[in-house]
Amino acid sequence: MQIPGHIDPVPVPRNVTPRADGRVDLMGLAKAQIRELFAEAGLDAKQAKLRSKQVFHWIYHRGVSDFGDMTDISKKLRPWLDARFVIARPEVAEAQVSEDGTRKWLLRTADAQDYEMVFIPDADRGTLCISSQVGCTLNCRFCHTGTMRLVRNLTPGEIVGQVMLARDALGEWPRGNMDLSDQESADTYRADAYRADGRMLTNIVLMGMGEPLYNFDNVRDAMAVVMDGEGLSLSKRRITLSTSGVVPMMEKAGEEIGVNLAVSLHAVTKDIRDEIVPINKKYGIEELLEACAAYPGANNARRITFEYVMLKDKNDSDEDARELVRLIKRYGLPAKVNLIPFNPWPGAVYECSEPERIKAFSKIIFDAGISAPVRTPRGRDIDAACGQLKTAATKLSRAERDRLEAEAAG
Ligand code: SAH
Ligand code: SF4
Repeated sequence: MQIPGHIDPVPVPRNVTPRADGRVDLMGLAKAQIRELFAEAGLDAKQAKLRSKQVFHWIYHRGVSDFGDMTDISKKLRPWLDARFVIARPEVAEAQVSEDGTRKWLLRTADAQDYEMVFIPDADRGTLCISSQVGCTLNCRFCHTGTMRLVRNLTPGEIVGQVMLARDALGEWPRGNMDLSDQESADTYRADAYRADGRMLTNIVLMGMGEPLYNFDNVRDAMAVVMDGEGLSLSKRRITLSTSGVVPMMEKAGEEIGVNLAVSLHAVTKDIRDEIVPINKKYGIEELLEACAAYPGANNARRITFEYVMLKDKNDSDEDARELVRLIKRYGLPAKVNLIPFNPWPGAVYECSEPERIKAFSKIIFDAGISAPVRTPRGRDIDAACGQLKTAATKLSRAERDRLEAEAAG
């Protein structure tokens, strides 16, 4: 049977980003890779080891992106590094702040692909929602990202670069005589900081654009740097990967990435899930739930989150809620359910369920002993809410883009 839409992984373009100036971008590379690059460029083994360790520390503990500021590296070596390497950030094409404090950044890769990231501040945490691909090859019918034509995998550098950029924007690099961040903005953020070490960015969710398990290697390598004790040092318990259900990659994800798992379930019958999450035609609900039951590391302390978008008269009946409970119990899953009110976008064919309906749905699940909070939509006014991410650039037609480019060129 022909499956509508593209649901196969797109090829991974590259690992190390070649730049026009010939320098190699170190962003997102493991310490061992940096060491190899230093050795290839001519440092002896001992130097390569020492310098890679120092540079890695400066990048991820200090937020430094200029070799000239790396004060424990000899003055002679700094320009040598600068001639061959660079520590880049994604380019910020646009930054917006919602009336509820949610922030969204439109980012641009070196080859002019646009993607987005969102920061959601809460009372007790700050969550950064990052993208794994430009666009998405899976065409879930309620998701705006799924309608994007341009798709490419993001590199580890582009994935880690999002976290680095958020830290820059939130003024979160440690202070002290080596710190270079702007005094005033750092103080402003410190006033409402969440953690003892003054950081607002406490959690990461891979819930932006793209299907992370269709960009497995790059997501794995990026998360390794994010979790590395000498890197960004974020705990795997504070990172959640959301998948639409790429069953063959789930066990590997548990073993090789090891972060919390969220699964976009959204329906409990084959008919409805086939319609709204087309990957279901390839990997059905039973297979998906079996893969969840086998997910390494899931237990009552680290439950799997089932995401369920509330679509009016589509998947929101009492019977659907009861079936959801039955399924979770049948597979013995340590689970919680996240009910997401549908976020509308222009041209969407669905409507959000009524608040009363969502409450009734949630109550059935709660009464069965499973947590089922309703997620408050955040940043809707700036199109930053779940499923609304579709970059402004790709919303323009080709002709409009050409015209703008011609204008910009002068
Ligand atoms: N591709 C991954 C991760 C990105 S989507 C996945 O599908 O899981 C993050 C979450 O937002 C998913 O649960 C997705 O189904 C949900 N979502 C997509 N479009 C939405 C919309 N319009 N309203 C509410 N949630 C949506
Ligand atoms: Fe892709 Fe997730 Fe959107 Fe589906 S919901 S189209 S998998 S980003």
